[in-house]
Amino acid sequence: MVVEPSWIVSLTTIAESAGTWPVKLMLVGGENMSERSRRYVEEVWKTDLYLTYGQTESFGSAGTECARKNGYHLQELKFWFEIPEPDDHGHGELVFTTLSRRVMPLLRYRTSDVARFMEGTCDCDLKMLRRISKIIGRCDEMVNCGLGNISPWMFEKVLEGVNGIAHDWQVLVTRPGLRDGIEIRVELLDGVSQQAVDRAIRKSLQELFPDMARNLAMGLCEMKVAGAVRGTLRTGRKLRSIVDLRKTLFGAEAAVPSGHPA
Ligand SMILES: [Zn+2]
Repeated sequence: MVVEPSWIVSLTTIAESAGTWPVKLMLVGGENMSERSRRYVEEVWKTDLYLTYGQTESFGSAGTECARKNGYHLQELKFWFEIPEPDDHGHGELVFTTLSRRVMPLLRYRTSDVARFMEGTCDCDLKMLRRISKIIGRCDEMVNCGLGNISPWMFEKVLEGVNGIAHDWQVLVTRPGLRDGIEIRVELLDGVSQQAVDRAIRKSLQELFPDMARNLAMGLCEMKVAGAVRGTLRTGRKLRSIVDLRKTLFGAEAAVPSGHPA
C-alpha cells in the first residue's frame, strides 16, 4: 500500500474493528508521521510501514527509509542536498538542487522542511546514500514563545508517552493577556478525563523538557490542555501542528482554525 499518513491512520481506526487484509508493506509519505502512529498502524495491519520524504516540487520521493527505519536515504543521483545554515545540533532548512531534470530544474530550492544530516553510515545495503533525519518541523512552525523555542517534534515527544489520546494534536500559541498562552489540543479516547491527560502532559513536559517546565512555573506563559472529540481536529487533509495566533490577534481578525473547541 502506498498512502498518506492521515489516510492510513483513519483507515486503520476502521480496520481495527472491520478487519484488515494481508499487506506486504506500506510506503507512506506526504506529511510527517509520529512514531506512535507508525506503531499503531503496524500493529493493526501486522506489517512494516516505511516512510518516504518528498514533495510536489521533487516530483515524488527524494528520500526513503530502509529496513532500519532510521532516517531517509537520500536520492543523491537526482538531487544535491544541502543544509546551508545548520544550528548547533545540525538542524536547518533542507535545500536541494536537481541534477538531471530537464523539466522544471530547481537551483537550491528551499523546502521549508527542517532536518539534519545523520552521522555515520547505515548498516543496510544503501550505505553509500547519505541519510537525513525525520523532518522535525516546517520553518514556519518553529515558534519562539514564553515556553521557549518550540517546534512540532517536541510535542510529539511529550505526547508519545501520554495514554488516553488519539493520534492527532495541535498546539495554538496565543496571547490572551500580557503573557503567551499555549493551548495543546488533543483528541480524547472514550472515557478518558481531560484532567488526567492534562496531568500526564505536564508530567511528561517536566521530565523531557525541564527548561520549558521551569518557564511555565515562573509564569512566563500559561498552558492549557483542551480535549476534543476523536476525529474532530483534522478538518482538511493536513493538520498544522503549531499555529501561532499572536500575529493575528492584534490585527483585523484572529484566524482561529475551524474545529476550535469552545
Ligand atoms: Zn539504511
